[in-house]
Amino acid sequence: MDTTAQQAGNFASDPGAVTPMMAQFFEIKGANPGYLLFYRMGDFYELFFEDAEIAAQALGITLTRRGKHQGADIPMCGVPVHAAQDYLKKLIGLGHRVAVCEQVEDPAEARRRGSKSVVKRDVVRLVTPGTLTEDDLLPQGGNNFLLSLARVRHGDEGYALAWTDISTGEMFAADCQPEALADEIGRIDPAEIIAPPALFQTLKAEAGLPQTVVARLVQGPADASDSETGALLLRETFAGLVDPTAFSRPARAALGALLAYVAQTQKSSGVALRPPLVERGVSHMRIDMATRASLELLVTQRGETRGALRHAIDLTVTQPGARAFAQRLAAPLVDPAAINARLDMVERLVADTTLVSALRGMLRTTPDIARALTRLHLDRGGPRDLAAVGRAIAQARTIAGALKASISDLAPLPPGLEEIAATLDAAPQPVADELARALADDVPLLARDGGFVATGYEAELDTQRRLGSESRKIIAQLQAELVDLTDVKALKIRHNNVLGFFVEVPASHGARLMNGAFDNRFIHRQTLANAMRFTTGELADLEGRIARANDIALEIEAAIFTRLREIVLVETPLLQAVADALAGLDVAAALALLAAERSFARPKIDDSLAFMIEGGRHPVVERTLEGEGQSFVANDCALSGTNGEGGQLWLVTGPNMGGKSTFLRQNALIAILAQMGSYVPARSAHIGVVDRVFSRVGASDDIASGRSTFMVEMVETAAILDRATRHSLVILDEIGRGTATFDGLSIAWACVEALHESTGCRALFATHYHEMTALAATLERVSNHTMKVREYQGEVVFLHEVGPGAADRSYGIQVARLAGLPGPVIARARAVLDTLEKRGMANPASALADLPLFSQSPPPVLSPQPRDNPLISMIDEARPDEMTPREALEWIYELKKARHADGAR
Ligand code: ATP
Repeated sequence: MDTTAQQAGNFASDPGAVTPMMAQFFEIKGANPGYLLFYRMGDFYELFFEDAEIAAQALGITLTRRGKHQGADIPMCGVPVHAAQDYLKKLIGLGHRVAVCEQVEDPAEARRRGSKSVVKRDVVRLVTPGTLTEDDLLPQGGNNFLLSLARVRHGDEGYALAWTDISTGEMFAADCQPEALADEIGRIDPAEIIAPPALFQTLKAEAGLPQTVVARLVQGPADASDSETGALLLRETFAGLVDPTAFSRPARAALGALLAYVAQTQKSSGVALRPPLVERGVSHMRIDMATRASLELLVTQRGETRGALRHAIDLTVTQPGARAFAQRLAAPLVDPAAINARLDMVERLVADTTLVSALRGMLRTTPDIARALTRLHLDRGGPRDLAAVGRAIAQARTIAGALKASISDLAPLPPGLEEIAATLDAAPQPVADELARALADDVPLLARDGGFVATGYEAELDTQRRLGSESRKIIAQLQAELVDLTDVKALKIRHNNVLGFFVEVPASHGARLMNGAFDNRFIHRQTLANAMRFTTGELADLEGRIARANDIALEIEAAIFTRLREIVLVETPLLQAVADALAGLDVAAALALLAAERSFARPKIDDSLAFMIEGGRHPVVERTLEGEGQSFVANDCALSGTNGEGGQLWLVTGPNMGGKSTFLRQNALIAILAQMGSYVPARSAHIGVVDRVFSRVGASDDIASGRSTFMVEMVETAAILDRATRHSLVILDEIGRGTATFDGLSIAWACVEALHESTGCRALFATHYHEMTALAATLERVSNHTMKVREYQGEVVFLHEVGPGAADRSYGIQVARLAGLPGPVIARARAVLDTLEKRGMANPASALADLPLFSQSPPPVLSPQPRDNPLISMIDEARPDEMTPREALEWIYELKKARHADGAR
């Protein structure tokens, strides 16, 4: 037996020598640098040396020592094979990469070669963040992309990206301008990025990529990142289905490295990648990384999914649907026809809520075939994956039926839904029938366990299984017979892995069966404290028969699994199309439900420079407020321009907390939602496609990359002024706040002029520099808008309403008071502000010079101690248990009255 202990013992009995096993370990370890080596020994994966130290710490498992190497103990730790998945997940999550090394021959085979022989081992798979296939390891509700970057310096010069999710087989390629690299990486959001060595170094050192991206960067295969090898690999992998010349040279290089890396990590040619789709020209709205972060599309700025746009609006019910939804949200379209085609599907479904709920009900129970197919291709699949495919086919056809049944003269299906219905209808029924016949109702995870083939599917299997179960009956009979024969009532026939079947009697009766009793029928095998164990000839015979029957049954099942797998894999292209159609339908139905539930409207989309939103809302803030029982105030936004003139620029002023940022962002989100093919949170919306959205908020640190708040702000603003076009939508929130007042104001002023004069994009610019409102007088398409407030008994009341005009002040001190800044500080701030306002801002230092020092200023009114506060006293004195509901209500009125009186003080 190849047990852990024995073999680790083998590791180095002689401190000076390198044992064959250690030699094997070093060879494998050396061939896989950068990977933690999971070295299979019996039922464990063992890790040694530094790997063991890293893994023990990362996984919180015991670090032991076994054998010696160069006189020192060898650190070792291990994880049981059956639980390896959980440990892998943890290690990958922490950014480690793992080489899984298996025993590739039977230990008995090795023993036959000689007692010192080591079992042959080989790395069967490299587990990296971008090449996962198991459901347990994969992220839920999103793709897990591996991205390959390539650069060609001569001739067909440029960059390209190729990316794939091997768990679903999707594969894409696109050429890319150097300055768009970061944006594209942000859009694809890969789990792992490979780049050939030279480019890897450049990207690490110079490209100015965020730390989160650099952390995902690794060196790809050096020998496969040129366009020639790329062409070769494309031809080989897709067996002539793909014409390599259809891709640019950089794209071929990127695809080549991608294919080589997948093959290298999967150690198998079986990955079911689909022919790469090329993204030509600009097919989607460009959203750079800072904008994605600022608009919190998929995750919030703190990296949480809750609170992000997607979390608030994704109502899909399947994993493939959720993946497609995230892809659409990350890459809204720019072709009005394509957007309108998506919107047509949503509109048709919005009009038929019964159909939507029926579809969603069916989709909810439809398995994720894309991932099941990949596992089957890689030979990592099990009976459950087969069952999933079978169920999905059956469901697809039922769903197609429901779609077709909904057609009437008045409500035909739009082309998008018609295509989905046709694809689903073409799901291969014979495959589903065969799987339904072949598979038992409740199938195990692994094929090797057997028991997944339904009774009645194959006669020979049934015969062997019967033999197995009949043998059990025979054992029961034999036990009864032996009890009679020996007169030992407590005699039992039992089984364990060491003895096989044996007869067990209590120790007190053991002697009766010993020493030739009963014609030598019982052969003594073991004496325990309370029992004695024997074998008999019949038992050994029976054992053999059962084992053979089970083995034969398992073999038959394995053959059936292989056959069924082939039946499924032959239909891969069709099944992948079905998977896409199901995902697309899930998204359309989810968007329809969203539109109906949340009163979203269909946007009008065209090629113009329109941007006319009536009654727009922020989809996330609105939901949060709803949860708190408050309602959101809808606002209009009119930035429409003409090609000759350019778009409008709104300068938005208003108090702190007035809702400026919310208003700005909601308009960017409305554009993104519209172009992903969704209805929008507005009464009506007319949007001329936006080629790029930019959203910047002054003051956000990027300490990790060593840039100060103001520097980050300026780098990002520079990028906007450089890249925004007439068709872009730009949102600038308090730009220029991270520096001295006059510097900031001047920068903000110049930015508005530049956006107006040279870019001509549609823009919203929120600022606290009220001086800037003067720009509206000189720049034709600049207008002033303000968040309305009302002052009531000394308090500011935010109306969250956007109206024409400019705010005269920011109410910062009132907001600071609401936030709980100490009373003396607030009083002092008021005094400073008064002085500045009266004496002018031209020279604040001299204006403030005469102001008595803080400690000498008239004693501020200190806020009363909590115990003197009448509100607190009222609450303390209230006895809710003794109040009637009416008294409670009156008490609340009293409380409000007291609050106003307190606020007025
Ligand atoms: P500051 O200048 O301090 O950054 P701001 O003017 O940008 O503030 P926001 O952050 O947009 O203000 O909004 C503050 C809060 O006001 C939000 O968290 C939200 O609760 C509420 N709010 C904003 N807009 C609306 C609205 N249209 N309807 C209702 N509540 C709103």
